[in-house]
Amino acid sequence: MITTLIEPATGEPLTDVPRVSVDDVDRAVRNAQRAFTGEWRRINTRDRARLMNKLAALIRENADELATMESRNVGKPIRDSRDEVGLAANVFEYYAGATNKIGGQTIPGAASGVLLSFREPVGPCGIIVPWNFPIAITSWKSAPALAMGNTVVLKPAEQTPLTAMRLAELALEAGFPEGVFTVLTGSGSEIGEAIIKHPLIRKVAFTGSTEVGMNVMRLAADDIKRVSLELGGKSANVIFDDCDFDRAIASAASSSLGNAGQDCCARSRVLVQQSIYDKFSKALVDAFHAINVGDPLRDETEMGPLVTTSHRERVMQYIDKGKAEGATLACGGEVPSQRGSYLSPTVFLDAKPEMTIVRDEIFGPVVAVMPFRDEAEAIALANDSLYGLSGSIWTRDIGRALRVARAIETGNLSINSGSSVHLEAPFGGVKRSGLGRELGLQALDHYTEWKTVYIDTQS
Ligand code: NAD
Repeated sequence: MITTLIEPATGEPLTDVPRVSVDDVDRAVRNAQRAFTGEWRRINTRDRARLMNKLAALIRENADELATMESRNVGKPIRDSRDEVGLAANVFEYYAGATNKIGGQTIPGAASGVLLSFREPVGPCGIIVPWNFPIAITSWKSAPALAMGNTVVLKPAEQTPLTAMRLAELALEAGFPEGVFTVLTGSGSEIGEAIIKHPLIRKVAFTGSTEVGMNVMRLAADDIKRVSLELGGKSANVIFDDCDFDRAIASAASSSLGNAGQDCCARSRVLVQQSIYDKFSKALVDAFHAINVGDPLRDETEMGPLVTTSHRERVMQYIDKGKAEGATLACGGEVPSQRGSYLSPTVFLDAKPEMTIVRDEIFGPVVAVMPFRDEAEAIALANDSLYGLSGSIWTRDIGRALRVARAIETGNLSINSGSSVHLEAPFGGVKRSGLGRELGLQALDHYTEWKTVYIDTQS
C-alpha cells in the first residue's frame, strides 16, 4: 500500500511512500526488542556516543537535501528548514555527550550494607511525531532515547514522513545496528495505535494534538506504559506599554506567523495594555501585511502555505467563527488566488476571552488581539486557557517581568523575546499542553528507569 504525498506549495503530487501494515509493526517492535537485549545492549557508551556523533555529521553532510525535502513536504520556508535540520544535528551531538555522563548513585543508607542505584534504559520506545516540525521533533525524542540505550520505533505524521525516513537510512549508514532506530509510515489510528498497544513497547513519547494525546494516554494505561506528551497550545504574548515597541511588534508577527502559525508555541493571543492598544494594533496589522508570503524554496520567504488544503479549511472555519462571534477582522482571512494551500496572515482585533478564536488552538496564521488595563488583568487573561505551553512578556521593568513570568501558568516563557525552544533547557507544557519535559538533561528521565540494588556486607 502507498500514500501519495501532496506538495503544499503547488497542490501537485510530490512522491509516493509505503504504508506499513499492523503485521509490519509487530515485526519492527520484535526487532527493536531483539536489538535492545542483544547487540545494542553490548555496545559501550563511548561507542554509542560515536554512532550518535556520526549520525549528526551525516545530517550536516546531507543538510541541503534534508532541508529541501522538509520544505517541499511541509511547505515551510527553506531558511526555517535549514535551521531545523541544524537543530537535529545539534540534538544528536548534545545527547551523544550524555551517554557516558549520566549514571546511577551510591547512596548512604544502612550501615550493614551498600545501596546502589542503576539508571537503566526502559526498552523499545514508541515515538509518534506530528507534521509541523518533523525532523526537529523526530530528533529531540529519538536522540535521548538512543543515548540512554533504548531502541526506537517511530511513526512520523502520514502527511510528512520524508525526513524521518531519510534519517533512518542515515542511522544505518552511521552504523547503528538494525532494529535500533526504525521508522514506520502509516495512519495514526491504525499504525500509531498498534505501536502504542504493542506489549513489547515500554515507553510512548507523543507529540500532537491534545485530543489524540488523551487517547494515547488511555491506550497506554492498559500496560502502565510510561508516557510523555507534548500537546497543543494557545500562548499569550503580553505587551506592556513600556516595551521596546518596534521589537515587540516584529516579534508579535514572527512568533505567531512562524511555520504559518502551525506551531504549538505560536503566540496566538496578543494581550496589549490599553494605553498603547490602538497604536500597537495598527502597527501589528502593518507588520502582517509586510510578511513575505510565497514559495517556501525562496530564501526571502517568511511564510509558506499551510500543510494541506484540508487543514486550511479547518483554519477558515475558525476565521468564520471569529467574524460570526463579533471580533473585528483587521486583515487577512482570505485564500489567495495562487495555487497551493496558502492563507493570508490574519489579525482579529477586539477579541473577547469567551470567543472560540481565543479559546481554541487554531494552528494557522491567525492572532486574536485583546486589551488589558493592568498587570493583574494581564495575568488573569493569560491564565484563562486550558493550555499552558509557551508565551512572552514585553516590558522594560524587570521586576514586573519576573512577577508576571512567575504568575503565568506555562511550561516555557520568554521575556522580551519570542523564543520557546532551547536545546539545553527543559521544554514542555502544563495543563492540557502536555506531560513531562523534553530537551535538556530532563529528557533523559523519560528514557531511563532507576533500579535500586542493596548488597548486604555483614560478615
Ligand atoms: P495529531 O494529533 O493529529 O497527530 C500527531 C501524530 O499522531 C501523527 O503522527 C498522527 O498520525 C498520530 N495519530 C493520530 N491519531 C492517532 C491515534 N489515534 N493513535 C496514535 N497516533 C495517532 O496532530 P498534528 O495535527 O499532526 O499536529 C498538530 C498538533 O500537534 C497541534 O495540536 C500542536 O500544538 C501539536 N504539537 C505540539 C508540540 C509540543 O511540543 N507541545 C509540538 C508540535 C506540535
